[in-house]
Amino acid sequence: MNGVVAGCLGALGVAATLTMPVLAAAPFAFDSAPGRLPKDVIPRSYTIAVQPDPDALVLAGQESVVLEFRKATDTIVFNSLNEQLRDVRLDGRAASDVVTDDEQQITTVHLSGPARMGSHRLTFSYTGKVETQPHGLFLQAYLNADGSKGRLLSTKMESTDARRMFPCWDEPAFRSTFELTVTVPAAWTTVSNMPIAKRIARGAMASTTFQPSPRMPSYLIEFSAGDLAAITARGGNTALSVWAVRGREQNGALALANAKQILADYNDYFGYPYPLPKLDSIAVPGGFQGAMENWGAITFNDQLLLVTPASTMADRQTVFSVQAHEMAHQWNGDLVTMGWWDDLWLNESFASLRAANETDMRFPDWKWAEHQDVAKERAMEADAQVSTHPIQQHVADELQAANAFDAITYEKGQAVLRMFEAYLGPDVFRAGVRAYIKARAFSNATTADLWLALGKASHVNMDQVAAAWIEQPGFPLISVAASCDSEGRRDISLSQSRFLMRGTVADGSHWSVPLRIRNGIGANPVAVLLTRDGQSMPSGRCDEPLSVNADAIGFYRVSYDTATLAQNLKHFADLPDGDKIALLDDQWALVQSGKQSLSAYLALAASMGSDLDSRAWEQIAATLGRIEYDVRGAAGHDAFVTHAKSIVQPAAQRLGWEPRADESPGAQQLRRALIEDLGAWGDTDVIDQARARFTAFLGDHTAIRPDDQAMILGIVAQHADPAVFGQLHAIAKAAGDETEQQRYYSALMEVRDPQLARQSAQIAMSGEIPPQGAHWRLRLLVVLAQEHPQLAWNTFIDNSEALLSSNPKYAPLITSQYVPEYFWNAAAPDRIEAWVRAHVAAEMSQNVQRGMEAARFRLSEQQSLIGAIDAMADSPR
Ligand SMILES: [Zn+2]
Repeated sequence: MNGVVAGCLGALGVAATLTMPVLAAAPFAFDSAPGRLPKDVIPRSYTIAVQPDPDALVLAGQESVVLEFRKATDTIVFNSLNEQLRDVRLDGRAASDVVTDDEQQITTVHLSGPARMGSHRLTFSYTGKVETQPHGLFLQAYLNADGSKGRLLSTKMESTDARRMFPCWDEPAFRSTFELTVTVPAAWTTVSNMPIAKRIARGAMASTTFQPSPRMPSYLIEFSAGDLAAITARGGNTALSVWAVRGREQNGALALANAKQILADYNDYFGYPYPLPKLDSIAVPGGFQGAMENWGAITFNDQLLLVTPASTMADRQTVFSVQAHEMAHQWNGDLVTMGWWDDLWLNESFASLRAANETDMRFPDWKWAEHQDVAKERAMEADAQVSTHPIQQHVADELQAANAFDAITYEKGQAVLRMFEAYLGPDVFRAGVRAYIKARAFSNATTADLWLALGKASHVNMDQVAAAWIEQPGFPLISVAASCDSEGRRDISLSQSRFLMRGTVADGSHWSVPLRIRNGIGANPVAVLLTRDGQSMPSGRCDEPLSVNADAIGFYRVSYDTATLAQNLKHFADLPDGDKIALLDDQWALVQSGKQSLSAYLALAASMGSDLDSRAWEQIAATLGRIEYDVRGAAGHDAFVTHAKSIVQPAAQRLGWEPRADESPGAQQLRRALIEDLGAWGDTDVIDQARARFTAFLGDHTAIRPDDQAMILGIVAQHADPAVFGQLHAIAKAAGDETEQQRYYSALMEVRDPQLARQSAQIAMSGEIPPQGAHWRLRLLVVLAQEHPQLAWNTFIDNSEALLSSNPKYAPLITSQYVPEYFWNAAAPDRIEAWVRAHVAAEMSQNVQRGMEAARFRLSEQQSLIGAIDAMADSPR
């Protein structure tokens, strides 16, 4: 999702803590679930009344918790943060002592004597904080399109922030019912997980009590209040609503229709009807990036839920796929929750896979499954580092759980599950998922529970096949050696080794690899489980192409012997799209890792023929763009650009500038990617065309379709003079729609002129950016870093605290792991590393290693590419 997202959905996540693999997983059992809280006193039901004061930023609460004492004890331990408890009583008798430790985020209540085993009631009143950053209950300021100011309350609890709103057993295995009452201004509308049970207005204030929730973990609690309005529909037995700031609710019409469709599909897929009476989708302006799967009340950054006339097809695709992800969590995550944060991948990878499959099923012409290759490649690049970590990570302390939300958890996990789904077959996989949901409903689960259910459905020992993929870092490179007999029949011998971009690791890694092998062009792939080196098999004929990763589904790379690669090149234009994609991805990765020559990759790219498959071309456009960027200023640059243009121009010319009525979204996206490359490479015809369209746009904003605006304005900005820059800036300032603001301000960051770029940096940090846009300031600097790395870096380090404050939970992760990647060519690596280490805690050291390995790799890749390009320019082509 355009890189920078965080929360349930999105990989800004920090890769956590310890890379120690989790020891052989066992099925979920409450008593052995990890966590810091003792399990001898368990909450059964909470009754919580809260009155937030949005002006003083404080809240007052009363809480009553029915507890089950599993043994006689005089001590009760639970989580709290920034709260003062008063009048703490058990069954009406005052506690002898209450100790609150905000450092540990724990309150310990001592009783005057042990309370007997059985049911007791804990009561207290407390005061706490209303946050101004998106953790716990927070106040969000926003500007309306007419410039008027608004504010609302919302919540973001995952992973460990419910304790900021009310003291609780804030670990996922402690399921309980929650009955929430909140007192806010009577003019405000209120939404929570459950429908409203009663509402009592007293003067300017009103108290709303919501129906008790089903048994659920605390991190799924939701409450929002403000000047909100909804549009509604029914989906079977479920009341569906989309909420937005009043006046914008009609922009949720698409999301409401999506929700209805997805709910019906998931009721069927999971074989378990959605268990709550209602499902709300709430558009929060600003707040946090991404979306959060609170049970029955999903919150979204409004840019991920609402659609305006300024929205693009890509925006609509994002809305559907994010909804599909969050709604998958209503089953996998909410109805069945991971027992502890080290199985976060169970929640996230599964939701991402389900969302991709749902989107692919409903919109076949989006080619969504193919598009997932982008995410898979991102994960593979991260996972080809020495410092990567296993999907399943040991999370010793829930306070570090936020560090587990990264590309490996989401995107490698999704890709690996997809590989297993293809291996077992989608129907068998679904049968396993249904059994898993049914067996663990209203409870928790571990990875072992999922393997158990999939194993029963498939009769495959999933533990054995899956363990290495989940518990080991990295992935294999499959080497293919073919031999031919006198009749031309091919035999292949396969071996594996861990694939790394740089360096070696002597860790003896080995995987059971579910290969899908296609011999020839039209044949169906054959499933083969590679378990030992030297495994061999007959494999079609030597004059046919060969794909050992048919349809690019596997999470591994393939290196073919020279003769087989030559066959693949010869037949490349005719290969199925997925096989083309796999070959392009693998050959480029082999170039990056120094195992293949650049000319071998370029030969493939030049062999696309008339095929316009969007993902294959997108791979080529992105790779050629990266090479051109890296070799700017090198002797061979201009010769490379001439060659790169000769590769993309035939496809660009076939596509032209204007979309045809019957075109797929992929073809339109491809047109923009190719034109963007040509614009960046200084193609005068493309620049002139973009300027002419911009001139028309100045007079009439409908002159450029929303889908094409970012591309055209970006090209214009790159080559802008002060007058054009001023025009672009005026357009950005005049925009009232956040979708347009993001687009126009982002274009300003692409300017190449160094004087103008200094203005861009100031604009990114200025009050022009509306309060709900605080979280995209950093993204603006990342765009600026493309053309002006040092300026962007200096602006970042001068303003880092402000830039990261909108994302407090993920700030350590962003700083340690992503900042080095964003600014890899802005300063010497040692200087970047010194700055990063000075700005994060020592416990983030492994994340710093990952970020710095990525940054140093990019520098060394740039040097290799310059060498290769200069050598090619020296030799006749
Ligand atoms: Zn999620």
